[in-house]
Amino acid sequence: MLLIECPDCGPRNEVEFHYGGQAHVAYPEDPSALSDREWAEYLFYRDNPKGPFAERWQHAGGCRKWFNAVRDTATYEFLAVYRMGEPRPDIPGLERPAEGAEPFHTRGFDEAGRDDARAAAAPQTPEGGQR
Ligand SMILES: [Zn+2]
Repeated sequence: MLLIECPDCGPRNEVEFHYGGQAHVAYPEDPSALSDREWAEYLFYRDNPKGPFAERWQHAGGCRKWFNAVRDTATYEFLAVYRMGEPRPDIPGLERPAEGAEPFHTRGFDEAGRDDARAAAAPQTPEGGQR
């Protein structure tokens, strides 16, 4: 049995909680300006790191409140819990967006449908062009 610490109720059995996905995904500032691809990326694209990851959880079988947690996806260990609206704690290994980083929903895509960030990181062919 895994105990999860609800910020309001304290440690409770994991069966009382529901997972709510990645935390800190900002709603688009102007949703009507997004293309279908950008909207799909906002709705469905999420990070999937191995290690510390900020997530939303709900204490569905208790106070029913949502809260955030940092959980190590490799060990399942909960490293921190914090209320909605509180800043994400500094956890070694927890990925943070780079200062001034472009919001993910404004990234572009190349002709092949690959997004800019991944295309830039793609291996180069011997001719120097991208695959
Ligand atoms: Zn609770």
